[in-house]
Amino acid sequence: MASARKLNPYEEERRRSGERRCREQTCRRCGRPILLGLDNDVTAMTARADPGLLSAAEELLARADGRRSYRLRRNPRSGDDLWLRDRWQIKGEPANPHGGLWAVRVVGEHRCELRSEP
Ligand SMILES: [Zn+2]
Repeated sequence: MASARKLNPYEEERRRSGERRCREQTCRRCGRPILLGLDNDVTAMTARADPGLLSAAEELLARADGRRSYRLRRNPRSGDDLWLRDRWQIKGEPANPHGGLWAVRVVGEHRCELRSEP
């Protein structure tokens, strides 16, 4: 089944190389560190996320603000993968960055206009 949306060059390259891992990069617009990766294995889109882990409450705030959220999963073969979260996952597996082995690590979509400092 062909995807309706055309892949951008970054997605094409990642698809070709079979690489799913997200990387730390600097946002070209605002200069802040971001995680750049694909948000799924199939029909993936480019995800740009702030690297800071969110609590369950922070994830809900981010969603209420119209930002996506992503699960950060450790991939033993490559590194960390980003997975777009839906409302069922947010409810069923709440973000829990300090859960040790059972941690649910969640990051929020990057927005250039958001600033943590005044
Ligand atoms: Zn930015």
